[in-house]
Amino acid sequence: MSITKKNTADSYESASAPYVFISYSSKNANVASLICNTLENAEVKCWMAPRDVLSGLDYDTALMGAISDCSVFLLIFSENSSKSKEVRKEVEYAAKKQVPILPCLIDHTNPDDTSFSYHLGSQHRFDASNGPIETHLQRLVEQMKKLITLIQPESINSKTHSSSANSPIIGDLEHKKSGQVIGIDVGSTKIRGCVLDIERLDSYTDSSHDYIEDVRRPATASSILIQVKAMIAKIVDEKLLGNHPLGIGIAVPGQVDLRAGILKFAPGLGVRSVPFRTYFANLYPGVPIRVDNDARCATRCELHLGVGREFDSFVCIFVGTGVGSGTVINRHVLFGHNYCAGEIGHIKISSNGPPCTCGQIGCLETFVKGPAILDLARAKAIEWESRGLLTLLQKQGELLDTRGIVAAMDEGDEAAKEVIEEVAAKFGMGIASYLNIVNPAAVALGGGVMSGFFLHMVDGITRAMQKNALAEVANTPLIQSQHMDDGAALGAALLFHANEDWRF
Ligand SMILES: [Zn+2]
Repeated sequence: MSITKKNTADSYESASAPYVFISYSSKNANVASLICNTLENAEVKCWMAPRDVLSGLDYDTALMGAISDCSVFLLIFSENSSKSKEVRKEVEYAAKKQVPILPCLIDHTNPDDTSFSYHLGSQHRFDASNGPIETHLQRLVEQMKKLITLIQPESINSKTHSSSANSPIIGDLEHKKSGQVIGIDVGSTKIRGCVLDIERLDSYTDSSHDYIEDVRRPATASSILIQVKAMIAKIVDEKLLGNHPLGIGIAVPGQVDLRAGILKFAPGLGVRSVPFRTYFANLYPGVPIRVDNDARCATRCELHLGVGREFDSFVCIFVGTGVGSGTVINRHVLFGHNYCAGEIGHIKISSNGPPCTCGQIGCLETFVKGPAILDLARAKAIEWESRGLLTLLQKQGELLDTRGIVAAMDEGDEAAKEVIEEVAAKFGMGIASYLNIVNPAAVALGGGVMSGFFLHMVDGITRAMQKNALAEVANTPLIQSQHMDDGAALGAALLFHANEDWRF
């Protein structure tokens, strides 16, 4: 084999030709050798330990160097390998280096049921679990050749430099030369789409992305998928001139299974289990599909194109028809074990109050979201009226909306001022808990409702933060997020940024 001389990370020359790293547990050594021989007979280069490690050189370093530069990491997966610490270490390293991993299943152990699943994603599998391994070899050779040809030489060479913030690439197999990615924001009232050149973020300006908006009218999972499909098709036709994008990112207003690309539950839309990734992977074969929560996407947009220019660690809180947030620590957006890190909307700030969409009571969201502010303003108007006092809130009657409350504030209306003060006090109390736990360098507030209220609420929120938070974090600056309506769609496109810690 031509790769046998490459034994340490330092002396390891970048391969001029693609090759496959074969990872296996010692109990599957025979199967691994058979697969290696078959691939090499078909002119697919392979790297296997211990065969390709020269004696006297550091074994682990040789392995890690070979993993870093391989084109495909072929994991011979079985019950034995799922229990092997060595295999696990190799898989973790391959995932860290964003090397495409192809698990070849040789028994009925499902990788999704093991601790490997976090690193493997769910897009690529080769099933050789039924019948003798020999019966699958030809198909494996064909699939491997196909995968390798999908990888452009420049992507192999640039893969090891993915830490550079200015050279975004993605870790999937399906590299395209174009840097155009599509970002979709499935909102409560509209679907928004954008195209972003992921390789030219430095040239980003507010007008460098295009939007196509569409009033969202779905009532079911399938009607949402159909509307998103229409929007993507329109973008592909009109903005990409029929070319497929490098990737499609989708922001959704609810809990997401990142690994499966499924919107699990969106209370605001009233839908459950929407299989975005499967649906669009079938429509756009070879185009990676990534799905994430909308607040995290909007936070990601702030990280790369907004307040993240000033702060490495911060939290974003978005107030609209609900309350969402995202947390950035050392320039990484936190996902959490079950992908629901940062749900500040459901911090408990009271032992009573109206029921929350999550099934609890006393959640911050039930006091701070747009509809809750409106309910409070209406109640305040009735209360003032019963005391024989006039308020601009009452004057607006049924037409009162959050903008009307802001307008009343601007006119100096005392009842509106009371509404804002009460909401700000509760909001600041919730943020104080967040500060105590996360200790961010700044708190950025955004979202449709907050864009109108920010200037009126900032003092009240600050007072409540100072009253409720630890002294060390009480003076964390409150700022406005820089992206308002476009943050989630842009953040969905930025799911393909090189620094994105995406292993799903
Ligand atoms: Zn709740």
